Formats: sequence, structure tokens, C-alpha cells
Amino acid sequence: MFTYINYFYQTAARIDHAAHANLAMKEVDETVALHDAVVKVLEMTDASDTLVIVTGDHSISMTVNGYTTINSNVLGKLNSIVS
Ligand SMILES: [Zn+2]
Repeated sequence: MFTYINYFYQTAARIDHAAHANLAMKEVDETVALHDAVVKVLEMTDASDTLVIVTGDHSISMTVNGYTTINSNVLGKLNSIVS
């Protein structure tokens, strides 16, 4: 039973902002930053007395579609295979 509460609140709204703006690299960067923050929290806390919850207010997705060549940069313009 917990005798006290550790509370840490971190927002990562930039992930959502980037997704809505179709800024794929920014979305990835912000997701990595959230990951790093969670790892740091886990390092700084003891799992025996700390519950860590990571959640979001809604889901977002990143879709990479189209017809392009192998080794195209998914964060840049497509290299069309249509000639
Ligand atoms: Zn959103």
C-alpha cells in the first residue's frame, strides 16, 4: 500500500501539433523526447512505490503512403516512379 503519492505530470502536446500539421520529423522527434522523459522518470523512481501511467487524450497516427522508389526519404518529397 502506498503511504504517499509521487506525482509527475508531463505533457507532450507537440506530438499532436506536429501530427495535425503533417510534420513527420517533428512528430518523431517529440515522440522520442517523450520516451526519453519516461525513461528518466523510471530511472528516478522506485517501481515498488511509484505508479507510472503514460497516456494520451486522443490517438493520432502517422501514415506514409504513395508510390515511390525504394530508399526514398519518407520525410521529404516523393521520388515518383511514373515516367
Ligand atoms: Zn489532435
